[in-house]
Amino acid sequence: MTEIINEGIGERTHVQSPLMRESLMDRKVLGTTDIERVIPILPDVHVIHIGGASILDRGADAILPLLEEVVRCRKAHKLILGVGGGARMRHTYHIALDLGIPTGGLAMVAGAVNEQNRYMIQALLAKHGGIILHKDHYIVLPLWLAAGMIPILSGMPPHHYWEPPTGPLRIPHYREDFGMYMVSEVLGAASMIFIKDEDGLYTADPKKSSRAEFIPHASARQVLDMDLPDLIIDRAVLETMLDARHTRTIQIINGLKPELLGRALAAERVGTIIDAPQGTHSNDAR
Ligand code: ADP
Ligand code: MG
Repeated sequence: MTEIINEGIGERTHVQSPLMRESLMDRKVLGTTDIERVIPILPDVHVIHIGGASILDRGADAILPLLEEVVRCRKAHKLILGVGGGARMRHTYHIALDLGIPTGGLAMVAGAVNEQNRYMIQALLAKHGGIILHKDHYIVLPLWLAAGMIPILSGMPPHHYWEPPTGPLRIPHYREDFGMYMVSEVLGAASMIFIKDEDGLYTADPKKSSRAEFIPHASARQVLDMDLPDLIIDRAVLETMLDARHTRTIQIINGLKPELLGRALAAERVGTIIDAPQGTHSNDAR
C-alpha cells in the first residue's frame, strides 16, 4: 500500500500513500483500509475481568478462593487480570451526579476506585508474581508473561474527560467490562472471560426477578435485540463486538464457583457464551 520513492543518493525520500491527501472521512478511501491485515499482538494470553460489585465487594470469602484458582491456572495459561470498582465507584458517581458534574467528569474520577482495588489484588498475588500493569507497560508484557507473572490492571478505560455524552444517560457508557474487552481485542487474546456472581446472562437480573431464565449462548446481536431490562456486562461490549477484528467471543462465568475459571480456560462451554460471528457488523440491518 505504501510506495517509497527514493530520488537518488542525497535526495529526499517521499512516502507515497493513498491516505496522504485525504480527509480520512471519504467513504471510498476508508473502504480501501479494510484490506489491512490485523496482527494479534499476544494471541496466547487470556484476559480475565473480575467484577467489582459482584466479586470484589464480597470480600475474602469470594476473592481468596478465586485468586487461588487464578494462581493454579497461571501454571498452564498466561493471564492478564482486570479489576472493577464496585460500590465505592457507584458512590463516587452518585456524589458527582448530585454535584452536577458532566459525564466526562464522572469518567475522570471513577477509575480511582479500580486503582485501589488493583493494589489490593496485587498485594494478595504479589508472592505469586502479581504485578500492577499500567498502560505504558504493555510493551513489557511479553517479558512479564514469560516470567510467569500475573499482570493486574484497572478495568476502567482511560477515556477521562473524553468520555462521550450519551444524551439523557449521565453515567459513562464505556466502563470496566468494556475496558477489559478492549485489552483482549487489541492484544488479539486467546479468550475474554468475565467473572461475576451469577452463572451468566439471564433474561433479567436474577437478583430482582425469580422468573429470569438462563441464556447459555446467544449472539451479541441477539442480546442487543432482546433489549433486556438489565445486563450483567456493559452494553458497550456487545456493541463493540460487532465490529471487532479479534475478540468475537466472550464468556461470563460465576466466580463464586472458582473451579469454573479453570474449566473456561480449558475451553469448556461453562457459563454464558456470547459471540459475534465473523462478518456481522454494527451497521448490518437488524
Ligand atoms: P460488577 O461491578 O461486578 O460488574 P454489576 O452489578 O455491574 O457488577 O454486574 C453484575 C450484576 O449484574 C450481577 O450481580 C447480576 O445481579 C446483575 N444483572 C443485571 N442484569 C442481569 C442479567 N440480565 N443477567 C444476569 N445478571 C444480571
Ligand atoms: Mg458492571
